Amino acid sequence: MRDQILALQQKGSILNPDAAQRHNDRQAVIEFAEQFIERLTSNKAFVRPKSLKGKLEHPENPLGQWALILDELEHHMITNGLNPASGGHLGYIPGGGIHSCALGDYLAAVTNQYAGIGFGGPGAVKIENELIRWMCRLMGYPEGSLGNLASGGSTANLIAFVTAREARGIRSDQYSQQCIYLTRQVHHCIHKAIRICGLTDAHTRFVDTDERFRMKPEALVHQIEQDLRDGLQPFMIIGSIGTTDTGAVDPVRSLGEIAARYKLWYHIDAAYGGFFILSSLMDREGVPVRELFQGVEMSDSLAIDPHKGMFLAYGLGAILIKDVASQYKAHYYRAAYMQDSLASQEELSPADLSAELTKHFRGLRLWLPMRMYGVEPFAALLDEKILLCRYFYERIGAAGFTTGPYPELSVCIYRYVPERGDANAFNEKVYEKVIDNGRIFISTTNIDGVYWMRLAVLSFRTHLEEIDILLENLTDALRQTRTELSVAGG
Ligand SMILES: *Cc1c(COP(=O)(O)O)cnc(C)c1O
Repeated sequence: MRDQILALQQKGSILNPDAAQRHNDRQAVIEFAEQFIERLTSNKAFVRPKSLKGKLEHPENPLGQWALILDELEHHMITNGLNPASGGHLGYIPGGGIHSCALGDYLAAVTNQYAGIGFGGPGAVKIENELIRWMCRLMGYPEGSLGNLASGGSTANLIAFVTAREARGIRSDQYSQQCIYLTRQVHHCIHKAIRICGLTDAHTRFVDTDERFRMKPEALVHQIEQDLRDGLQPFMIIGSIGTTDTGAVDPVRSLGEIAARYKLWYHIDAAYGGFFILSSLMDREGVPVRELFQGVEMSDSLAIDPHKGMFLAYGLGAILIKDVASQYKAHYYRAAYMQDSLASQEELSPADLSAELTKHFRGLRLWLPMRMYGVEPFAALLDEKILLCRYFYERIGAAGFTTGPYPELSVCIYRYVPERGDANAFNEKVYEKVIDNGRIFISTTNIDGVYWMRLAVLSFRTHLEEIDILLENLTDALRQTRTELSVAGG
């Protein structure tokens, strides 16, 4: 049997390369990464997706050489579809993927630290909890608050809703009396999370918004009063700090006061806009951008995405929660084979505060950049993004486009209204041309039947150069579209 065991060990030893081989492996991968980064400023941010039928199939068949494998990635992954690492990514909500984050992931994978339970990985758990506490302090949450480092904002929001349901002790036969207050502008993951946590039968109340797509507090009060009169149970208010469509920030303090008055759970989705609390800029009227966050400390839970506002690669969204006892009650479980892990817990463990047990040590990708550079360079870039958005807003308006509300953060909407014809179809044509060019990627939305193009500046690699190129591409596309239509119209 010993010989058989040794033969198997030999056969699998290729998975545990020696120092020289590791060096070679790394060189190949690093060279690929370097070329990728170096070409970002000249490459397209978007290439229309090419079919992958017959490609990348049968991952079980080894190619055996880095060159072949990296070539496959280059052709089918890197230059296909959206390049989210590009500073030309100005669609949806970008972020980028700073280099030190990649190194954090590398170390997390090499050391494979266990970030689920403090007994196994006290350092990893401590690092993650301290990152969460830093974000709690940013938002003015009291000591003792915590939360979780989840994979993204969607999961972060879900953890909050499950916690809120637990905190209120809502049983399944009471679901159909619950009322949840939000606006039509909330991110769609909010609706997913409501469904996933079983609250499909609850009433989602779309509260009226003002001309800047912010929830109207008086409409909220009106709806709550109506629901109370109807014998229903107002349960939760969901505000946004930076909606995806237009970057609108709900009146955070007013919603907090209403939540307190009626004793509702107050959740804020700040997945996109949360880190703008670091801003030291003023708005157009000379009011600090920070004031948009006044009252944020009144919320019970808040989702915030470091893979957006801290420019990390995809895979890190945080939930902050004040009522940690309810978060724990909603997520912990005990198993016989885990009995030894309960010994002397200095820190609450992520495994008791989320659905995950074995989890990626995703905190390291945030901790490493922060310990290296501090928060200041992040704050500077966030301010740059706000100014780039304002710069674009003013230029695109001067170029004859119709603009939506003045940007509160770094998202704005705009469209061109032609003298005649279908304005939506016209703007779609303009957009398609910008996308065909591909150097800069933008996305669009539809608000009450009106087609808008969006600008979302949040990549750490987006600077004046990219905004100027987009302005040029848009005015070119506008000119071409007008020419085409006038030719077509005779
Ligand atoms: C991006 C975003 C989400 C979803 O977060 P993911 O990290 O993509 O899961 C939720 N809400 C808002 C406002 C967002 O911008």
